[in-house]
Amino acid sequence: MSLPFQGLSQKIKTQFKAAKDSNAVVFFDSEVVELDDADTGIPFEVRYVPGLAKKPQGDGGKKSAGEEKNGDERPADPFAPPYVEELFVAEETVKEDEDDSGEAFVVLLNKFCVVPRHALLVTKNFARQTAPLSPLELFATWSIIKQLSSREKHLGFFNCGSESGASQPHKHLQFMPLSGGVVPFDEIIDAHKPQNRRSCFQLPLPYANFTALIDPPSAASSVPGYMGQRYLELLDLMIDHRRRLAEEDPSTAPDGGHVRLSELSYSLIITPTYLHLVPRRRETYTTERGHALSINALGYAGMMLVKDQESLEDVKKVGVLAILTDLGFRPVAASDTVEVDAILPTGAAPAAEAP
Ligand code: AMP
Ligand code: AMP
Repeated sequence: MSLPFQGLSQKIKTQFKAAKDSNAVVFFDSEVVELDDADTGIPFEVRYVPGLAKKPQGDGGKKSAGEEKNGDERPADPFAPPYVEELFVAEETVKEDEDDSGEAFVVLLNKFCVVPRHALLVTKNFARQTAPLSPLELFATWSIIKQLSSREKHLGFFNCGSESGASQPHKHLQFMPLSGGVVPFDEIIDAHKPQNRRSCFQLPLPYANFTALIDPPSAASSVPGYMGQRYLELLDLMIDHRRRLAEEDPSTAPDGGHVRLSELSYSLIITPTYLHLVPRRRETYTTERGHALSINALGYAGMMLVKDQESLEDVKKVGVLAILTDLGFRPVAASDTVEVDAILPTGAAPAAEAP
């Protein structure tokens, strides 16, 4: 069985060029400012995009014909069919094996982009953005990134929950090429990977974060289950972290006192070789001069976006790491590389040893 979405790279290239030429895609010019962090060495990037300051948030107010006719004031779902032809790239039902009925996905170009060929994987049928990812959603995204990365490194990400920066309720994952060819976090993740590559680990950063390396089985039919398992390990760590934080400091306890997965916000980064998850406390950072910066998963991949000169100056002054720390939760483990058996409370089962 081959990986899904074969030939996607060329389709995205062709479609993006046509959509940009016809203005179906609104492309914003940007300037990348490198801001290496002195303590961790992480080569953060801040993208300055003055053109975005004038763009309305969300999808720009598009309504479907039906809603306009009915006078329905709810915002339209931009990821529901019928698709805008110029933004549509591909559609496929992804299956675990031949006997599986599978899940249907559509690849669309991101209508408002700053990086060329920024695209979205959306569920064909409506699913909530706050629901956990299915093994096939992870498999489809990972397969796409892996395939596209053979020519130019790509990154995938998922903004989940009310504090994650997600702007659309219809389930969508995103992927885009990396301008510098690397994710700013690649090096620190590589430097702290545990000896047992099956163990999830926490980077020594001032905010809680969890990473699982991806070393998938060779049979494609086993990859969805494998990806689903790695992701579940990260969700487990996030829930456990939240419980332990609430025990130490009841003011961090969720409403009602119980930690419920559907109410947790997180940023998820997906590369061909790892999943990196950061629990989110808040979406928006307010700069010294009062500008609100909405930070999504790209921020936690080390790539921040600002829309005005004052914000750029304020970010330079305070540093990217301080902003990420403010919008995350404090870690409960010591600030050192911690393997999953050390992150989990006493008595909890650590991840299985690799055979
Ligand atoms: P998020 O804000 O992380 O939930 O991601 C949603 C993405 O969808 C944003 O990056 C928007 O630029 C993009 N978007 C909004 N409206 C449309 C649309 N009509 N077609 C395609 N992409 C869109
Ligand atoms: P916004 O107007 O804030 O919704 O963002 C406009 C577009 O920029 C969306 O497509 C976002 O996904 C994208 N975007 C946000 N942060 C970054 C980043 N750090 N690098 C590249 N694109 C980004």
